[in-house]
Amino acid sequence: MAELEGLEFGKSDFVLLDEVTMEQFMENLKLRFEKGRIYTYIGEVVVSVNPYRQMDIFGKDTIDAYRGRELYENPPHLYAVSDAAYKAMKRRAKDTCIVISGESGAGKTEASKYIMQYIAAITNPSQRAEVESVKNVLLKSNCVLEAFGNAKTNRNDNSSRFGKYMDINFNFNGDPTGGHINNYLLEKIKIISRSPVTWNLLFSQLLRGGTDEMLASFHLQNDPALYLYTREGTSNNDRSNHKAVKSALEVIGFSPEEITSIYQILASILHLGNLQFESDGESVQIPGLDAVSHISKLTATEPESVRKSLLYRTVATGGGEVIEKGHTEKDACFGRDAFAKALYERLFGWIVSRINGIIEVKDYNPVLHGKNTVIGVLDIYGFEIFDNNSFEQFCINYCNEKLQQLFIELILQQEQDEYQREGITWQHIDYFNNQIIVDLVEQPHKGITSILDEACLTVGKVTDTVCLDSMDTKLAQHPHYTSRKLNPSDKTMEFQKHFRIRHYAGDVTYSVEGFLDKNKDLLFQDFKRLMYNSSNPVLKEMWPDGQLSITEVTKRPLTAATLFKNSIVALVDKLACKEPYYVRCIKPNEVKSPVLFDDARCQHQVAYLGLLENVMVRRAGFAYRQPYARFLQRYKMTCEYTWPNHLMASDRDAVEAIITQHGFQDDVAYGHTKLFVRTPRSLFTLEQERAAL
Ligand code: ATP
Ligand code: MG
Repeated sequence: MAELEGLEFGKSDFVLLDEVTMEQFMENLKLRFEKGRIYTYIGEVVVSVNPYRQMDIFGKDTIDAYRGRELYENPPHLYAVSDAAYKAMKRRAKDTCIVISGESGAGKTEASKYIMQYIAAITNPSQRAEVESVKNVLLKSNCVLEAFGNAKTNRNDNSSRFGKYMDINFNFNGDPTGGHINNYLLEKIKIISRSPVTWNLLFSQLLRGGTDEMLASFHLQNDPALYLYTREGTSNNDRSNHKAVKSALEVIGFSPEEITSIYQILASILHLGNLQFESDGESVQIPGLDAVSHISKLTATEPESVRKSLLYRTVATGGGEVIEKGHTEKDACFGRDAFAKALYERLFGWIVSRINGIIEVKDYNPVLHGKNTVIGVLDIYGFEIFDNNSFEQFCINYCNEKLQQLFIELILQQEQDEYQREGITWQHIDYFNNQIIVDLVEQPHKGITSILDEACLTVGKVTDTVCLDSMDTKLAQHPHYTSRKLNPSDKTMEFQKHFRIRHYAGDVTYSVEGFLDKNKDLLFQDFKRLMYNSSNPVLKEMWPDGQLSITEVTKRPLTAATLFKNSIVALVDKLACKEPYYVRCIKPNEVKSPVLFDDARCQHQVAYLGLLENVMVRRAGFAYRQPYARFLQRYKMTCEYTWPNHLMASDRDAVEAIITQHGFQDDVAYGHTKLFVRTPRSLFTLEQERAAL
């Protein structure tokens, strides 16, 4: 068993703080970070600070030290919670989940990978080939999802631009049998980006890592400077990363034809990025038809159909007549960009569903094989407050409201369940219920999402500012909503364009500009039909909605906000029926430094993650609990009645002797199987006495 840490490393559990104040919390967090202790508990919650350096705490020895151990037997670690989740799943046949949260660059994705690696390492001791292959596919799928869903941003070189929830299925032996991935809101704007600070490396990997033969057949040259989507950034590892992704696709089980199709779609997107329009004032044209011809070859469609869908839109008139309407140059550009983004988004969605098809548990018979249990791992974007906050931040922050609500409910619920199970009297404590903010966003008819949807459905020119007016009117009285118009003296918001939500994590001012377009997420039906008519079966499969003819398209597709809301509601339902474990990640500084602890930035994160509240909730009841046998084992030497041996009838009686000898009887309660300690002081004294012996 690994040595427990000494006090010079600070307190390994925040519930052991002398007083729960922000000051003490921060002092402890900082001390531990400086001493290279990146993990600290709040009960069973792991608080993790990104070390921004390779730590020697993820090797095989460490895995062995944590395997099968209880939380308090070792220093805090992701492995301990992973093991706790695994034990609950295996011993008690409980479905569990590990929810990882924190802001961009805080270390969520790295944490999720360590958790997966730990689970892979401790399962299948007999090395059965079919289980090893499932594990391999699960691990490789991470590599593919990262390649397609991550982008380099100014906050994180490898930033996940989608939320990921992965279920791992286990058989009665506790070995993985398969899994399922859900992805949430791919921020395609950041993936298909012309911005100098954000880019996806997949494209430059293709240009630099693809073979000459492949590039020639795609009509591409191996110079990223030639393409709009790769002009801004490349990486030194492009070549090796291209190989790694390609081989991961092969290992997972994508066929050679599918892999070629994936790269053909990426190549089409590169060509689309470079495609220009010119207008003579009357009609719009595409100068030179090379790009059109390349795109048509790569997508297995007719060149004339490609040209037409880029320049015209088919519309049904009131009389049921179908006409072709030429685009303005602006519409054509909008259409082209929307098409490029949609191609990417559908490709990503298709890859996820293809992986799901491969890793889904097949032929599982619960009667023969016992209950199929699950560990879910959620790696999802944290709360975002930028200088300019738009529709994406609105969605992401709503998601965090939902998860925070679940966090508070589940953590309290769990506490209360345990007290009940152990026969301990417990007084309910109050906490801020952020349901009111969730309602502000999602309530039918009155919520922001409904108001946005209504504006999107209204025929005619409803602008973002008209929509804001409507929000102002309907939400003026809401305590968590403000707009500049209602508060003219507020200089932080520009008149007519901004609204502010008082989130549980802090105030965020959103600019309404672009909200409606992003919510409508409009893609001309002509592109959908073009892709559906592709003779490449992979592409066709990605665009089933393209089979509708223009007169059949009557129902409007759901808006982006509504789709997102529905997926998050489903996610929360999924999590709520599992036993949750939490990892709360903190980013120590903005400059990726392994030594800098930026007090203000860290404190801000501690505040909005609700960590202090978490400690209080944990301490309001009984901060600490241990099964009698363990407690006795640890502290028996501090009491004359229990050292070296005790003659009591039970472990419980022996524990009572220790507590009484120290005069802590008012600070504890005796459960059926565990001792509950109210304040950490008593435990602390015992620890000190033990250390002094
Ligand atoms: P985003 O929300 O943008 O996806 P994230 O929370 O997933 O961010 P990560 O990508 O996990 O952040 O971490 C950012 C970077 O921080 C990593 O690329 C790595 O360099 C470093 N890092 C994070 N965790 C660790 C760790 N445990 N050990 C070493 N480095 C780490
Ligand atoms: Mg990430």
